[in-house]
Amino acid sequence: MEDNHIYQYSLLNALMDGVCETGIPVSKLASKGNQGLGTFARMNGELLFLDGTVYQLQAEGNVRVADETDQIPFAVSTNFVPQQSKGVKLVTKDDIDGALDAFNDHSKNLFMSYRINGHFESVKCRTVRGQEYKGQPLSELGKKQSVENYEDVEGTIIGFRTPKNWQGFGVAGEHLHFIKADRTAGGHVLEVRAEKVEMQMAVASNVHVELPTSDDFNAAKLVTDDDGVKEVEG
Ligand SMILES: [Zn+2]
Repeated sequence: MEDNHIYQYSLLNALMDGVCETGIPVSKLASKGNQGLGTFARMNGELLFLDGTVYQLQAEGNVRVADETDQIPFAVSTNFVPQQSKGVKLVTKDDIDGALDAFNDHSKNLFMSYRINGHFESVKCRTVRGQEYKGQPLSELGKKQSVENYEDVEGTIIGFRTPKNWQGFGVAGEHLHFIKADRTAGGHVLEVRAEKVEMQMAVASNVHVELPTSDDFNAAKLVTDDDGVKEVEG
C-alpha cells in the first residue's frame, strides 16, 4: 500500500443491506496499511486496526485481538502518514469536521483520514451486538446496540471522511472508532469531548475498492439509505 491510499472492502450500502456472512481474512486487512476500521462477520462488534493489530470491540466494552482467519465483511484502511498535526479542542463530534475543513482547501472533495491521540474528557461509543438472523440489516441492529460512556480516558480515535456528495455510494463514510490506550475498551464513536488532543490528518486522492463476489452481494439492493446510515453511524 502506498502512503495515504485508501483500501476498502465491500460497500457500506451492502452492510446496511445485511451482507456480512463472509469477507476477507484479518491477515489480508493487516497487510493494507497501519490503521483502519470496519466490522466482523455477522456484524459481531466493531473493528479497529491500529499499528499492525486488528481489534474486535465488543458489546459491554470487551476487546479481543482478532484471529488471523476471522472474516471481515466490510473494512476501510490506509497506510496513514500524517500531513499535518495540531492540537484541537473537541466540544462535539462536529469539531472534527471543522479541523478537517481547516486543514486544506481540497478537503471538501477529497477523502481524508485521521488519527486523534490523547486524553479525552468523554467518549460515547456504541458496539453492534451481531446479527440474530442471516441478512438482518444494520438499521435494525442499531436499535439493540450496546452504548458505553468512557470518561477521563487516554486513547486513540481512527477516522475516515468521504466527500459529502460521494456518500450515497457507501465508500468510507463518516466513520470513526475509538480504543482506550490500555486496549480494554472501545467502539464506534457517537460523541466525543476533549480539552486538547493531538489530531493528525492526511488527504487521500486514491481509493481502491474491492467488491465481494458472493451471491449475497449480488442480491443486495444497494439502495442508499441516508436516514438509516445516519441513525446507526451517528
Ligand atoms: Zn463504526
